[in-house]
Amino acid sequence: MTTTQQPETQELSADVVVIGGGPVGENAAQYAIEGADLTAIIVEGHLLGGECSYYACMPSKAMLRPVDVVGTSADIEGVIEAQLDRPGMLARRDSFVSHYDDTSQIEWAESAGLQVVRGHARLAGERTVQVDDGAASHTITARHAVIIATGSEPTVPAEFEGIEAWTSADATGVIEVPERLAIVGGGVVACEAATWLAALVPRSRCWYVARNCCQPMNRSSGSASWTA
Ligand SMILES: Cc1cc2nc3c(=O)[nH]c(=O)nc-3n(C[C@H](O)[C@H](O)[C@H](O)COP(=O)(O)OP(=O)(O)OC[C@H]3O[C@@H](n4cnc5c(N)ncnc54)[C@H](O)[C@@H]3O)c2cc1C
Repeated sequence: MTTTQQPETQELSADVVVIGGGPVGENAAQYAIEGADLTAIIVEGHLLGGECSYYACMPSKAMLRPVDVVGTSADIEGVIEAQLDRPGMLARRDSFVSHYDDTSQIEWAESAGLQVVRGHARLAGERTVQVDDGAASHTITARHAVIIATGSEPTVPAEFEGIEAWTSADATGVIEVPERLAIVGGGVVACEAATWLAALVPRSRCWYVARNCCQPMNRSSGSASWTA
């Protein structure tokens, strides 16, 4: 006879329980207990630090900087123009995202007096959070409050259904630089991505489609759609 191994269940409690360990969750947890005799638990399902640390602000800024420095050096008389080192740009990105390892963020959280529980959290009742990570399950009771700081997910517009479009997280995590690409959208994220992707991809093969373009590369204004 075989028996199914049940995950170990642990009961935990804290004054404040935060679901989601991105910048918002980390700050909310820290501010909730700072200077007070209170406790906080952060529940994180992936990497503590969230999108910003691993898939958004940090890798994007890491790759923008070399492009910026090269651009600046091109404009200054008396300076020999710097050159981009494309593998070096990606190595710099990897270093900024700590090679997708959140050990240092966990150390920071613990040093700030925060307890981190890994796993996918859901509300299971009033001020009660259920966490499952496969091997273990936790029921966490919040004495004062549960804060939901689960961030957001990128969506691909319906007109691009059927193609394997990259999201911003795919773009910041680029490993194999595509031979040709089009960036659709003219928001801050698209402008940042267009800047460093144009540096990684040969310019003649990088297209940027937006109602208002902001990058000196192949431009096209208007709405984009996809035809297979
Ligand atoms: C390319 C790019 C550049 C950017 N640059 C900047 C910048 O320079 N400055 C700036 O201020 N902002 C910038 N942003 C925006 C910034 O990244 C987001 O505003 C920020 O990450 C949002 O933080 P958050 O904590 O709300 O969510 P997130 O960072 O998304 O964190 C949410 C966390 O919750 C976890 N989670 C979700 N559901 C559950 C669950 N059920 N159980 C457990 N855990 C869960 C997720 O794993 C995640 O870690 C940039 C974004 C992009 C894409």
